[in-house]
Amino acid sequence: MCLPTDALPDPVSTMRTETALLRLLKKLQSLEASRDRLCIAESVVVATQEILDARFALLHGFRATAHGYVTAPLAWAVAGDGSATTNLDHLDVEETHLAAEPLLEECALAAQGYAQAEQNGLWALAFAIGPAGAPVAVVEVHCSTPPTTALRDCVHELLSIYAEHLGLLDYAELDTLTRLHNRKTFDENFERFISMAEQAAQRRDGNVVTENAEERHCWLAVADIDKFKRINDNFGHLFGDEVLIRIADLMKKSFRNSDKLFRFGGEEFVILLRFVSAENANHVLERFRAAVEEHEFPQVGQVTCSLGYVQIDPLLTPAEILGRADEALYFCKENGRNQIQHYQELVQQGLIDAPAATPVINTDLQADIDALFD
Ligand code: GH3
Ligand code: MG
Ligand code: MG
Repeated sequence: MCLPTDALPDPVSTMRTETALLRLLKKLQSLEASRDRLCIAESVVVATQEILDARFALLHGFRATAHGYVTAPLAWAVAGDGSATTNLDHLDVEETHLAAEPLLEECALAAQGYAQAEQNGLWALAFAIGPAGAPVAVVEVHCSTPPTTALRDCVHELLSIYAEHLGLLDYAELDTLTRLHNRKTFDENFERFISMAEQAAQRRDGNVVTENAEERHCWLAVADIDKFKRINDNFGHLFGDEVLIRIADLMKKSFRNSDKLFRFGGEEFVILLRFVSAENANHVLERFRAAVEEHEFPQVGQVTCSLGYVQIDPLLTPAEILGRADEALYFCKENGRNQIQHYQELVQQGLIDAPAATPVINTDLQADIDALFD
């Protein structure tokens, strides 16, 4: 029997594959506890690049929409680098241009989960991650020579394991009704979000960021559906659930991928906005409120919601930040609903009480007191 020549990878590529897989397995093991999606994505992209000896590999988030699909680059790795990055600033647009959206779409729809094409002596491949026809991500790879079937299958299997891993993470982190992040994920990640805001503030103080960044902050908004109990009472819980699902979908459309969306409980949602100016925070939250108001909900008709929001001050505890957004939300509910309110502005205008001053602790004195009890 004569095997196709490409079924037998050469010893060099076998060794390269083994090393790449071993490194990835070790990484996955150490990452299991942290559940850091971006770290896992980076490791997968490095392994893919190494196994295929590719010029570069690029992982895109992939989402089907009513009008087609949208992709967003998440992580990439280049030959000889041995590392991956989520900093896409240096991504060579000329080179990635070859990849071409049609190839990503083709692989998303392909039953075998990948597609490849040659252009100007370079080979572009795209592998789908997740269910055929509705992948959650796509890896785009550029090679100087076409990879063997064995190596391509190896990457395909690797990405299937990655897809299963993502599925398990989703199961633990997402709300089953709306597919937004759940309350537990909020509790686990909020501190990290705040520390990012803190780092951004420090960079600002060190004058190492652009003038524009001076204006940008992180924000937390609490959204609550108005008179939701009445919807349940008048139309039944199933229609109430449908309203929740549609509002979650409107949220996903209204905010950027980098913003974080949570179903906090019942008909309450939390939105974390990253690095936007006060003006833009107001603009995107208002856009979401208007989108809900304008949406025609089946049977129920019009539904409105109210949002209270606050700039995240890293010196405050999560409970204090949430409490302030809640105060602004309460103000909305007391003043006609179907509106958004900014906590700090309400305080400035004297419409709600200013927060009690945070006590300043004299650290020298505190050290002396601690020493007494040592
Ligand atoms: P307000 O404008 O003041 O927010 O009024 P409201 O009626 O929305 O507020 P309230 O908190 O009194 O009611 C929330 C309701 O949400 C009560 C509960 O039955 C309903 N709810 C909570 N979780 C779910 C769910 O998963 N599905 C459905 N259908 N209803 C839910
Ligand atoms: Mg409520
Ligand atoms: Mg409500």
